[in-house]
Amino acid sequence: MRVVDFASEVSETLFFYIAKLRQLFKKKSSRTEHQDVVVRSERNADVLVPLSPKIRNFLTVDVECWFHAHNVGVPRSTWHLQETHILNNMDRLLLMLDTHDTKATFFILGWVADHFPEVVRMIAAEGHEIATHGYHHELITQMTPQEFEADLLQSLEAISRHTSQEVLGHRASNFTVVKDTLWALEILAKNGIRYDSSIFPISRKRYGIPKYPNRYPHSLRMPDGKPLIELPMSTAKFGSKLLPVAGGGYFRLYPYHVTAAYIRRMNALGLPAMVYLHPWELDAEQDRYYLGASKTFQHYVNLESTEWKLDRLLDGFSFTSIKEGLPSVRHMVRENVLPLFDLYDNPETARSNSNYLKKMSGKNAFKDILEEAELHALVG
Ligand SMILES: [Zn+2]
Repeated sequence: MRVVDFASEVSETLFFYIAKLRQLFKKKSSRTEHQDVVVRSERNADVLVPLSPKIRNFLTVDVECWFHAHNVGVPRSTWHLQETHILNNMDRLLLMLDTHDTKATFFILGWVADHFPEVVRMIAAEGHEIATHGYHHELITQMTPQEFEADLLQSLEAISRHTSQEVLGHRASNFTVVKDTLWALEILAKNGIRYDSSIFPISRKRYGIPKYPNRYPHSLRMPDGKPLIELPMSTAKFGSKLLPVAGGGYFRLYPYHVTAAYIRRMNALGLPAMVYLHPWELDAEQDRYYLGASKTFQHYVNLESTEWKLDRLLDGFSFTSIKEGLPSVRHMVRENVLPLFDLYDNPETARSNSNYLKKMSGKNAFKDILEEAELHALVG
């Protein structure tokens, strides 16, 4: 299975480069044709938005230590015994953001808040947004709804001990809001979370919702009527294929100019990119372990490139936290409301969905616009 995964990663990367080269070639041969290509490749995009002069992209950090990554497989009972450079890594990251006068959203793991409270205080003191990454970094696909809610509340409690900032956002461990765990979104909304940034509209072994109906910021309406904003992870469309870009292992794997070209293209279309990284990805000096060919590759590839690539991105593009950036994409959020029912995939919820759609009356079913005041309350 690992070999298959590895082969799939490599073939996707090759596919990406081939598509990129073809695009560059077309750009050279005809500028007009290139414009068409861009428009055509985004024609089936989920939203049509007016061009915006200055798009602020989202910069997000999942605050965890190297041993929290599932690829590494360190048992939870030994986490407190592991060596970590999280303080040093956070120091460097915060300094870099300060140098570029840029704010970011930090999805903090509750475990980190409890064991390294100074991390929460450092982030808050610099005026960045604090959000939650759950407590134990457990995959939602391996939790019951009750366990997920307990883990979420434990993380919120841990974070609240060290900052008075209200937590508005959530990102799931390993993006495990998938078709079978959409109930997690209802639990988030019920507990006062205003936005989630966990859905990857691609197909992966552990995560992803292939054919997810919206790749850009939008609002989901929960079965009880509560709204929750979803900010999917960034993907680039090449032909009929969606590839992940602009974060984590993919950010390290792709050459800088590939990530930059993608962000430039998105911004030209009026769309913000979602960039994400982990503090341990700035630590090229960390001890390395053999985790099998595929996982070793994913976890350590181009580790030494994260820092300079990020530095260059911050030089070349405008970034901000989700909380600060949401108002600039509020037109997208407002015009793209999906009923959560529509995303479930079993007969009972499909039935509820069809009843719901009937109630929503025809053409407005997917365009139920949030009241301005309601949106204002969501995005602050
Ligand atoms: Zn994580």
